[in-house]
Amino acid sequence: MTESSILAAELSVGEILRWQGKFRRAFAGAVGFIALSLKWTGLIASDSVLAGRIGTQRALLVAAAAVAAYLLFNEWVLKRVRSRGGASHGLLRAVLIADYALIFTVLFAATPPVEYARGLILTIFVVQFTRLYFGLRATVLSLAAAAIGYTSLIVLATSEGGLDNPAEQFWNLVIFLLGALMLGGLHGQVSGRLNRVLQLFDRAQEGDFTGTYDESLDKMPDPITMIGRSYNRMRLRLQAIVLTDPLSGCYNRRGFDQLTVREVSRAVRGRHPMSVLAIDVDHFKRVNDEFGHLTGDEVLREMGERLRETARAGDVVARMGGEEFEILAPDTNAAGAQILADRVQAAFRGKPFASLGGTRQISISIGIASADAQNDQVASALIARADEALYVAKRNGRDRTQLWEPGLRAFDGAVPGRRSIDMRALTDEAN
Ligand code: GH3
Ligand code: MG
Ligand code: MG
Repeated sequence: MTESSILAAELSVGEILRWQGKFRRAFAGAVGFIALSLKWTGLIASDSVLAGRIGTQRALLVAAAAVAAYLLFNEWVLKRVRSRGGASHGLLRAVLIADYALIFTVLFAATPPVEYARGLILTIFVVQFTRLYFGLRATVLSLAAAAIGYTSLIVLATSEGGLDNPAEQFWNLVIFLLGALMLGGLHGQVSGRLNRVLQLFDRAQEGDFTGTYDESLDKMPDPITMIGRSYNRMRLRLQAIVLTDPLSGCYNRRGFDQLTVREVSRAVRGRHPMSVLAIDVDHFKRVNDEFGHLTGDEVLREMGERLRETARAGDVVARMGGEEFEILAPDTNAAGAQILADRVQAAFRGKPFASLGGTRQISISIGIASADAQNDQVASALIARADEALYVAKRNGRDRTQLWEPGLRAFDGAVPGRRSIDMRALTDEAN
């Protein structure tokens, strides 16, 4: 997909042809009707090349027939696009050929050769319709068709004696082509920038707000620049909303996953160690039963604060759901993770929760898994291991930390609902 045809890719040829078809019909109908009326009544000249051969009235009838055929053809195209729910590139080409066929037939049948430049004015509309929506290739073909058609007409008119000075007409053609090239370049630039904005929105849709719109690339600021700036303004705000858990203020699962991908690729590049801490509140149901859900929520909020204060700036602290938290600690081996877990435990032991009247404390269990980052699967394997270690900590009486070690087995069989992780991701290590 080239940048220039991105709009056609997003919107589909059929969608665009549908609205353009209405313009084509209205424009050709109105201009055709007025022009033929003016010529028929003699208000404007109609001594065309064809009129010189078969007479003015017959030539005008030919032009009228061309307009009628064009309208019918476009009517048929609209019906076809509607019934098929789309359009092929073949149909698009046919529509463009019909545009030129009409323009050149009317020039040949009803326009004095000295006024041929009118055809070029109309051709600019066709080129506009083509460049922005259907890309560079279609535009080049379109311009080539215009140049060849126009040149043929001039040659024909000259040989019939209708043009004394064809050089004037060729000069018209040159000016037209230069202008069309400039317009085409401008539209190409617009398409490219729209494409950049589209990509930003596509990524944002996936919850990825890391991209920014680079305003410095906009040599000629315009409404697209304004959209880009507006996106940049709301980007950080949206990122915070999408990636953060509103209750605890920690990252949510989406935020955790996104930052994990970033941290893992960094760790894999440098073969750095990394650790995951899985944290679960002990007997949290009792807190809810005793104090109610709202107070339980307050405890989770306070807990999020404590965890974030305890972790280092580079650590990713996330609430994965319920009263389960996870900390991803980059550049941290098992010994470092143990120190972090001790700090976390210390933030809970002997420290009652304000939300529980300032007298009750709660205990937590922690599972730790550490490894050197060898490949992209390291995080999911570490999460599963930390999970497993956490369950062992629970089984052994809670209020403790368990480091995952080879041979540690929390689950005897498959546990329904548990993530199934390919543990071979870490086979390079003792297992
Ligand atoms: P364990 O020591 O085995 O972890 O016991 P537990 O009671 O904490 O059990 P478990 O972790 O399986 O259950 C979590 C409970 O946390 C279940 C539910 O009552 C409570 N909970 C989960 N999400 C929320 C929440 O968003 N707000 C509140 N107030 N309670 C929640
Ligand atoms: Mg619990
Ligand atoms: Mg739990």
